Amino acid sequence: MRLRYFILFFSICSALITSKAQKTFTQTIAHRGEWRSEGSAQNSRASLQRALDLGICGSEIDDWLTRDGHIMVNHDASYQGVSLQDTTFAACKRLRLSNGERMPELKQLLKILKKSKSPTRLIVEVKAHRNPERSRQCAAEAIKAIRRRKLENRVMYISFSIEACQTIHALAPEAEVAYLSGDRTPEELHRMGITGIDYNIKHLRKHPEWVSEAHKLGMNVNVWTVDAPDDIREMQALGVDYITTNEPARCEGIVNISAE
Ligand code: MG
Repeated sequence: MRLRYFILFFSICSALITSKAQKTFTQTIAHRGEWRSEGSAQNSRASLQRALDLGICGSEIDDWLTRDGHIMVNHDASYQGVSLQDTTFAACKRLRLSNGERMPELKQLLKILKKSKSPTRLIVEVKAHRNPERSRQCAAEAIKAIRRRKLENRVMYISFSIEACQTIHALAPEAEVAYLSGDRTPEELHRMGITGIDYNIKHLRKHPEWVSEAHKLGMNVNVWTVDAPDDIREMQALGVDYITTNEPARCEGIVNISAE
């Protein structure tokens, strides 16, 4: 009888340990920073500072290389009629964001990151430029700027450009770099040295098996752009490592409550 109780007790304990080990830990990344609050704007200094203040896992920014080698931070290829990759820093620095700030350079955001004690990492998206060569150049310049400030451990890289991802891996083999386009399997990317997939929610719904395939290869899984509570719960249940969202505080509340 005692032995039976002992076996039952042992089985319950090992089941609890196993379920804990398998429990996923999903973290939040602010898409273009925390920009929806008053006084903030996408890809602004304020949006980065607010994400750092939240202490979430990451804050994402979009990077374009100007003709004269400056990295400007903005989502679209053009802003107020100025094509960022075709112009100079002098023209870009005059551009104002919706919250009144001047458009930031990557190096200005790195300065904010350097000053902060927040655990939040900067997710540096190297935009797909007009041609692969320009995307590669942008990746190389971003790596230089990050190294110069010794921030290698506080950034991760992402790109829709496979050439940019490969350049990042070649120049910074220790860096975490994830591919965004959703059209390659984890195995294919792993062979190229890419450390994560960062796919639109529709791609992960179509290929939910890519989450466990990526994990088996030691890769991370990030999903974008997930704002609705039900979608956040669905992606957490699927086991993704990161959720990129325009609603970082909401996402953080959901993933932390569900993880308890
Ligand atoms: Mg982006």
